Amino acid sequence: MTATIIDGKAVAAALRARVAQQVAALPYRPGLAVVLVGDDPASAVYVRNKDRAAAAAGIAAQTIRLPAATAEAELLALVARLNADAGVDGILVQMPLPKQIRSTAVIDAIDPAKDVDGLNPVNAGRLQSGRPGLVPCTPAGVMKLLAEAGVALTGTRALVLGRSVLVGRPMAALLTAADATVTVAHSRTRDLPAECRRAEVLVAAAGRAQMVRGDWIAPGAVVIDVGINRLPDGRLVGDVAYAEALPIAHAITPVPGGVGPMTIACLLENTVIAAGRRRGSGQ
Ligand code: NAP
Repeated sequence: MTATIIDGKAVAAALRARVAQQVAALPYRPGLAVVLVGDDPASAVYVRNKDRAAAAAGIAAQTIRLPAATAEAELLALVARLNADAGVDGILVQMPLPKQIRSTAVIDAIDPAKDVDGLNPVNAGRLQSGRPGLVPCTPAGVMKLLAEAGVALTGTRALVLGRSVLVGRPMAALLTAADATVTVAHSRTRDLPAECRRAEVLVAAAGRAQMVRGDWIAPGAVVIDVGINRLPDGRLVGDVAYAEALPIAHAITPVPGGVGPMTIACLLENTVIAAGRRRGSGQ
């Protein structure tokens, strides 16, 4: 038997089309401001893709580029201006930021109502408290992939490999809210392979190329690979040894083409949600 491949590209395309339909029916154009500081090539690609996808969905997207030497105070002043701008519904500051800028100071400064990345502590706290807020895009995308794949989460043993603020922690909160029994594993976890083998749903977000081997996976498990790692030969791989996992898992996301495309689609959805809440027309 070979695992069902969960097609993130197709699910993301359908979500982007739904968002475009929603936007077309609105009496206003939701606005998204994406801020890029410096010239990190990977960040530049991410920002361009976000800008294009937003524009294609009918969102009024603007990218603001600042030089690498920008002072923290300058970036905070820009965030304050965007917070006050009635036409801006979503603000995303692309990470990582240059060394002289504290990312926590910037994240804390974003109006929680416009925090489409869901990283502001107000939104993180709302998620942990089971209250409505803006949910980080990558874990939100994983939940949609699990739903599309027909995975029933209630009572399921789930393991999240990674505990970052961006992925692992919100992922664990979402799975808990969906009534899974969640273990969070990290670099200090004892006997990680054994922990992984207990999981019926395994979400790998460690940022370590192919670290999850085939024999770490329980037969019939659902495997979601969030990792994006570049090998020395230039290939892009996930955190899971995909070829080894294929004959063991029940379903699996590929890299690329799995979780990655969902992140941008969920960013667009978050922008529309934020706009609806701010402008008082529900979703
Ligand atoms: P991160 O901030 O570096 O966090 C990695 C987490 O994995 C940490 O909690 C770390 O544990 C844990 N970890 C690292 N090495 C480990 C090991 N050998 N054994 C066990 N745990 C280990 O990374 P992130 O931002 O969460 O991103 C994780 C991966 O997802 C990266 O590959 C990133 O590129 C990818 N990503 C993809 C998308 C997408 O759109 N698909 C979006 C965001 C991120 P400690 O806490 O103990 O250090």
